[in-house]
Amino acid sequence: LKEFGRLVSRRGVDLRRNDDDYLWSLMAETRLFLDILEGSSRHRASDAARKMHELYELSARNNPQESGLACRQGCALCCRLKITSASAPEIFLLARHVHALPEAEREARMAAIRLAATPPEGGAQMRFCGLLVDASCSAYEIRPGACRAYTSMSLKGCEDVDQGKPAQFARAEIPLRNRTAHSYALGAALKALGLPYDYYEFRAALRLAIDDPDAEARWLAGEDVFAGVAKDPGPQTEALDLLVAGATGASTSSA
Ligand code: SF4
Ligand code: SF4
Repeated sequence: LKEFGRLVSRRGVDLRRNDDDYLWSLMAETRLFLDILEGSSRHRASDAARKMHELYELSARNNPQESGLACRQGCALCCRLKITSASAPEIFLLARHVHALPEAEREARMAAIRLAATPPEGGAQMRFCGLLVDASCSAYEIRPGACRAYTSMSLKGCEDVDQGKPAQFARAEIPLRNRTAHSYALGAALKALGLPYDYYEFRAALRLAIDDPDAEARWLAGEDVFAGVAKDPGPQTEALDLLVAGATGASTSSA
């Protein structure tokens, strides 16, 4: 497990594999997250999310990426979509980022996040995400995995979706696999510690988190700080249990 931990820390996860080595990589990554979450930092949940994003980028650099992506900087129609799959640690990391901004910028971001969480009136389109500034993500380095994995091979397809028209377009496979790998490892570590591993509706959850500077600490203490926010079930329970067993040595002592 330690050897795979060193490999994952150095190169990320080999996303082309679907074998024992891939599984061991995710078990080792689960162990990395457990080490962070079992620490004493009051920001250990958001620290784990930061680590997850680092490992995503490391994996993206060390796996061949598909060609033909339409995504470009400044293209942000997808930032108007409703994101229903952000984990609590990812949300706390973004709230922490917003709280650390200089005052004027912080107030502007918080106002934008609150507005973005307000349902549009009269059947109008969804509002843009409150973190979008001048058509770019103001928190790009720590954007949620859902944003990292949302890609398109066709800008026209995205424009059709944005206009509410029927649309057909392909997504790139590698970013989806990348996101799945790391979100399963983080989900497993959260589950092992009895912490919620659900996915929350991003705008509503982020609004709650920015309005409560103690949200992360209260969540770590077992409070349901996102009560009332729509959520999706997180990763499959059986897969998480397998990763936990490997990460804690409960299943085997090999590797
Ligand atoms: S997913 Fe679509 S809207 Fe978003 S950056 Fe890519 S091409 Fe642009
Ligand atoms: S977090 Fe960033 S990338 Fe994701 S929807 Fe908001 S502005 Fe777009």
